[in-house]
Amino acid sequence: MRKQVIAGNWKMNKTHTEAEEFVQAAKNEVPGEDAVESVVCAPFPFLQKLVEETKGTPLKIGAQNMHFEESGAFTGEVSPLMLKDLGVTHVILGHSERRELFGETDDVVNKKVHAAFNHKLTPIVCFGESLKQRENNSTMQVVEAQVKKALEGLSEAKVKQTILAYEPIWAIGTGRTATAEQANEVCTHIRQVIKDTFSAEASEAIRIQYGGSVKPANADEMLSRTDIDGALVGGASLEASSFLKLVEAGKHE
Ligand code: PGA
Repeated sequence: MRKQVIAGNWKMNKTHTEAEEFVQAAKNEVPGEDAVESVVCAPFPFLQKLVEETKGTPLKIGAQNMHFEESGAFTGEVSPLMLKDLGVTHVILGHSERRELFGETDDVVNKKVHAAFNHKLTPIVCFGESLKQRENNSTMQVVEAQVKKALEGLSEAKVKQTILAYEPIWAIGTGRTATAEQANEVCTHIRQVIKDTFSAEASEAIRIQYGGSVKPANADEMLSRTDIDGALVGGASLEASSFLKLVEAGKHE
């Protein structure tokens, strides 16, 4: 059975003090790693301290983005080598805000996915359709193209270790959640795409999260679906108490 992964995406929120208060409150309360994988993806300036403070606990620390090169003249960027060196374990790649506001393409996301694996970081690869695309009935086509390009050139072993996050853009930060049926339908389709592109084993192993206005009140319903293996959570991951409830919901699956 696939282990659920609950990942908080703090985005550009919190001060250093607030970030520390969160991990102090959460780090010893999250269930053991056998039960559920718990990750907090924090802003870059907090990563080092948060990794130090969570050492030896089941709470993992992730980043929200990175460049695909290891080093070089890329002012303002952060490399996979830097993240790995700090002890970061996960990295969100291709979030719709990165795609929409910072011009990230499927090609760039693919380069980042390879770079993450080259540095032993677990990528959380986001994909999802816009409202217009959903209304045009092109959701499946759009998500399939995004996922195929993001994973292009990976070995089967790496596909198995990848975490995908289905995040319909119209459900992010809007309070408008996809229904569990809508979310599961897309995740089932993507699992089939993985099967056709890679192998049945890869499609059984890869974990697919849902993200978009997930909160404690709707987590159980989402996480109980056959093809949803966790959640990527923005707003409801900012408070430790709420994050812990989400992790608890993941544990019961
Ligand atoms: P939200 O954000 O939970 O605030 O909708 C999800 C995300 O962007 O990952």
